[in-house]
Amino acid sequence: MKGHTAVITGGGRGIGKAIAETLARRGVNIVVVDVNLDIARETADYLRTLGVRSIPARADVSKASDVSAIFETAAKEFEKVEILVNNAGITKDGLLMRMREEDWDAVININLKGTFLCSKEAVRLMSKQRYGRIINIASIVAFMGNPGQANYSASKAGIVGLTKTVAKEYAGRGITSNAVAPGFITTAMTDALPENVKTEMMKSIPMSRFGTVDDVANAVAFFAANESGYITGQVIHVNGGMYM
Ligand code: NDP
Repeated sequence: MKGHTAVITGGGRGIGKAIAETLARRGVNIVVVDVNLDIARETADYLRTLGVRSIPARADVSKASDVSAIFETAAKEFEKVEILVNNAGITKDGLLMRMREEDWDAVININLKGTFLCSKEAVRLMSKQRYGRIINIASIVAFMGNPGQANYSASKAGIVGLTKTVAKEYAGRGITSNAVAPGFITTAMTDALPENVKTEMMKSIPMSRFGTVDDVANAVAFFAANESGYITGQVIHVNGGMYM
């Protein structure tokens, strides 16, 4: 994948930043997309020190105009975009009976609609190139469910369905579409959980440790590789055996 270009949403921090770094170390140029431009800029500055080209791009992935602007910028700057990683995601937890409609909408719009909008723009470019690698970040809760996460688990299960449909629609154009489903990964998103919840969760992980951002990034790099071209519509679970 050396010399390819990747658009990574939510690439400024957390898992997205680790994916950006892992691909950059393999020679991939990176468009760091984040809703927070300062964070995107900081990450892009860092990636350039690894010897690749990298630019920051501010976008809210749930807004179609923001998304089309990123792909315009990416195509202008790099000509081609071979890799898209749909990583931007949020949680707004609450039990179903108490879940506010705006919390449902926000999570579905950023996680699921954002993945739809970015994939739609990407396949336009990738179809012309007759080459593409789309990797979506799902979650273990798409498969297991999780109390308090009706919106989040539905958004991630939706991503799995979208992944498979895009795989079927664009297989003939040399575009693969796959997903990585992380379990419990140590990031800002999970640091916020109470200690007793983390202790309980650890008991259900056969490997007895939480995952790292690099565990997820390595699975993404596998799908992003040129050599993975005959693998599409698949999900790699990165969860230490918590779900199988
Ligand atoms: P973080 O909250 O650490 O990072 C998410 C990134 O996405 C942030 O940089 C955030 O920007 C950005 N972002 C949020 N909303 C938008 C938006 N509307 N448009 C563009 N960018 C946005 O999360 P993680 O790194 O933990 O999670 C990354 C992905 O992995 C998510 O899809 C998450 O659902 C998934 N995941 C995480 C797991 C975990 O255990 N951590 C487990 C399973 C899946 P800002 O900094 O401004 O908020």
